[in-house]
Amino acid sequence: MVRMVTVTAAPNAEAEVVDLVSALIRFDTSNTGELETTKGEAECARWVAEQLEEVGYTTEYVEAGAPGRGNLFARLDGADSSRGALMLHGHLDVVPAEASDWSVHPFSGAVEDGYVWGRGAVDMKDMVGMMIAVARRFKRSGIVPPRDLVFAFVSDEEAGGKYGCKWLVDNRPDLFDGVTEAVGEVGGFSLTIPRRDGGERTLYLIETAEKAMMWMRLNARGRAGHGSMVHDNNAVTAVAEAVAKLGRHQFPVVLTDAVEQFLTAVAEETGYTFDVDSPDLEGAIAKLGPIARIVGATLRDTANPTMLKAGYKANVIPATAEAVVDCRVLPGRLAAFEREVDELIGPDVTREWITELPSYETTFDGELLDAMNNAILTADPDARTVPYMLSGGTDAKHFARLGIRCFGFAPLKLPPDLDFAALFHGVDERVPVDALKFGTRVLEHFLQHC
Ligand SMILES: [Zn+2]
Repeated sequence: MVRMVTVTAAPNAEAEVVDLVSALIRFDTSNTGELETTKGEAECARWVAEQLEEVGYTTEYVEAGAPGRGNLFARLDGADSSRGALMLHGHLDVVPAEASDWSVHPFSGAVEDGYVWGRGAVDMKDMVGMMIAVARRFKRSGIVPPRDLVFAFVSDEEAGGKYGCKWLVDNRPDLFDGVTEAVGEVGGFSLTIPRRDGGERTLYLIETAEKAMMWMRLNARGRAGHGSMVHDNNAVTAVAEAVAKLGRHQFPVVLTDAVEQFLTAVAEETGYTFDVDSPDLEGAIAKLGPIARIVGATLRDTANPTMLKAGYKANVIPATAEAVVDCRVLPGRLAAFEREVDELIGPDVTREWITELPSYETTFDGELLDAMNNAILTADPDARTVPYMLSGGTDAKHFARLGIRCFGFAPLKLPPDLDFAALFHGVDERVPVDALKFGTRVLEHFLQHC
């Protein structure tokens, strides 16, 4: 007699990931940088806890320095706990969104036209959803990773981590006990480039370095006076001169290892030449398309004036004037950068750092890198992984203080014509459904061989 047995298989990670990302986007976790108006992180973190506890995880909920700044941690034991643990980290907060600018509501999580739409779709609820999907799959299927895994869902990345990873690293380093390596944003995504012999090559950019994020305040002190009279010591003029000089200044091109290796790989594939001494190096980089905005910014330090403050009446010369400049500095360049800035602003304007998040750099090698490479090539055999430097900053800067080796690896296979860089903090932020499924497959393979 034949007996029919119906086996209901546990849903796999790929099947769940789209719903998870859509649900995550529906939590409005806008981080304005102000405690009073930031919201949603606690609810979102508790929801993540439910998704993990449902399949058997024990989780720990931690508020980072202020009520409502919710973080969620879970661990999965690996086969060899004597090896250092690998952490996967994703931030739950997003930058605010102005709904009237969007084609869909930014917190709808709509799944339409092959995309999941909404604020956080690529920064970085995509990766958060993939992490939850794979964590659930491993637990439900009894998959034991080769080493311990730590899943970290964190707050306040978009405002620098004061109420997120900076606080956690300073106050709860025990949460990261045993963690030697970590992966998070911004890397693992694809870039399609033309090949020199025709056709195309898909590169996957693994982030191995980040510029320093240094916010500088300039202060000029002059003599207050009447706007109708001759006046030779005007603070507004002094700060304006310094700001204009800094804003127009080109810092020297300095090729760090990550940038050099990236450009060498692109040159091999495309036949393009990148001549560091050429005045048109930026022009050559522009051929890469929209990603040139990031790659171009990793060739040299930048100093972009962003805020000005002075005066209170049209006919009163104020005694002081100030400006804020967003400086992004290459690894190893800080002292030289400061010397150059001091020469530009001159002796009458003083400067101070109001935010200092150091640069980060690791090498493009080792077993974990091999595991990332193999996971990508298993899913996309004709592709190639390359290192690159992020012009911005991530939570990796905080984890690096604990001696954790960090990579940006949130894998996505993107349509060749998608302007991925513009989606970060942009209007109509969205992530392709196929890219999420691809990324989940890659992450699953990676974590089984890490
Ligand atoms: Zn992010």
